[in-house]
Amino acid sequence: MGGGWRTCDGPGCGKTVPTTSGTGRPRRYCSEACRSRWRRVAARIRRRQALREDRTEALCEPRHELRAAAYRAAAAARALAALVDAEEARGEGEMEDRHWHPERAAALYTRAARTLAEAAEDVLAAAVRADRTAGDSWAAVGRALDVSADTVARRHRRAARLSNIRPVAPNGPDPG
Ligand SMILES: [Zn+2]
Repeated sequence: MGGGWRTCDGPGCGKTVPTTSGTGRPRRYCSEACRSRWRRVAARIRRRQALREDRTEALCEPRHELRAAAYRAAAAARALAALVDAEEARGEGEMEDRHWHPERAAALYTRAARTLAEAAEDVLAAAVRADRTAGDSWAAVGRALDVSADTVARRHRRAARLSNIRPVAPNGPDPG
């Protein structure tokens, strides 16, 4: 069996090493330095992989909350549209009467719209929390909202305190 040649597995090395070194396993590195460099890189890859898995697991609950908030907002939007549809279906003349009817709830549309707006606020808070849990920086979230990283972080932390939502678990150093 003739000894072949291969490129050293040391990251960024590029030297050629013989695949056979007499006995034992085929050589993969030109030197001990390249072997330990490759091990450090492999360890870093494993740590990143573990972090990604942790985040995927951590995302489960925020995603569930986001989905629930989105459906609540959708229900509020449908309720408002249905309210307008129902009044239109009654006809113009009757609508006029109803408008001045004392039993008509005051500020009917505004109340329904407020319910929708509050639901949309919950959606936004849940979305920020989910993006943060996914590892996005405050700067990235801020850009999505056209505000600074500081502003969005302050707002969101205060909102989380007020609504008693658990704050985002730290995901290592925050690049901003
Ligand atoms: Zn090498």
